[in-house]
Amino acid sequence: MNFVCDVLALARPEVRALTPYSSARMEAGAAPTMLNANESPWPPPGDDGRALNRYPEPQPQDLRQRLAGIYAVDSAQVLLGRGSDEAIDLLVRAFCRPGRDAIAICPPTFGMYAVCAAVQGADVIQAPLDKGFELDADAVLRAITPAVKLVFVCSPNNPSGGLVPLQVIDRMAAALSGRSLLIIDEAYIEFSGTPSAATLLQHHANLGVLRTLSKAWSLAGARVGALLAHADVVALLRRIMPPYPLPTPCSAVALAALDATGQSLMRERVAAIVSERERMAVALQTISGVRTVLPSAANFLCVSVENPAATYLMLQSEGILVRDVTRYPGLRDCLRISIGTRQDNDRVLAVMQAMDSATVEGTS
Ligand SMILES: *Cc1c(COP(=O)(O)O)cnc(C)c1O
Repeated sequence: MNFVCDVLALARPEVRALTPYSSARMEAGAAPTMLNANESPWPPPGDDGRALNRYPEPQPQDLRQRLAGIYAVDSAQVLLGRGSDEAIDLLVRAFCRPGRDAIAICPPTFGMYAVCAAVQGADVIQAPLDKGFELDADAVLRAITPAVKLVFVCSPNNPSGGLVPLQVIDRMAAALSGRSLLIIDEAYIEFSGTPSAATLLQHHANLGVLRTLSKAWSLAGARVGALLAHADVVALLRRIMPPYPLPTPCSAVALAALDATGQSLMRERVAAIVSERERMAVALQTISGVRTVLPSAANFLCVSVENPAATYLMLQSEGILVRDVTRYPGLRDCLRISIGTRQDNDRVLAVMQAMDSATVEGTS
């Protein structure tokens, strides 16, 4: 596997060269008497056996192993962080030199890639999705300049909902080998019913896959996400990661939610969301103020409407928040509606149907 060096060669030289901070927990694990981290020897009130007076493990081993099992990768290929957002930031900081390097994105897409690039002083090359909001792999590859170190592809895409086939990802990773990393953001993959790009990791050292517990696993408040990548990329990112990224209560809650019961609950909930998504897609199409509902493999629908501003405000006045995505290229008249409970979804339909009748009456 000498392709490994190729990937690390893409990283910022100063990151490869730096001597990382070495925390007490990294230098030595646990012992009966721990006087190496300037912690308090007493647990706080209400500690309940959690040992919150101690710093957490930098990469909690039990959580890492559980996720490695669920994602079907090696635990050395898992980097745990505060949501997958943290991994996006770490990737940009490790691979993009300010003022010189760039990332590539496929708009309309998730905003964090460009924000992290801007903070780092890296350029953003745009290779837009085609008119049907599908990824044009050849257009992306043509847009890649030598400055591009990271290519972010979101699948299923937020906010348009489309999925990129694994063969396309496979082909792109091969084409980008030695030039840049291809990062597939799979925040919504559980709702797609298709396999993860993590199945391709063994073939491509320059591939990374972002996963999160924030969506399908109902844990947005716990802030736990992961990058799945070559073990050397994981090790590189750990060099620039803060020493104790995961609070003990957060990893404990995540581990508990990932047991066998939690896994079947997750699958049930995903099935419920998918079935509601299909019901909503059909029902929304029957509303005359709705132009199109984009095909979605995620837990939301991107809906093009006659009057996005009025629809947004009407839903809001009825206590329903949806996402205004009109600022995204190609989505000028779109709202992104997360799939909620059946009752939530029925309320959305009722408000939009009522707007419809009001419009019809107004014009007659
Ligand atoms: C929600 C979302 C994330 C991630 O979230 P975290 O909560 O930080 O794990 C990542 N990518 C996309 C496209 C998302 O929509």
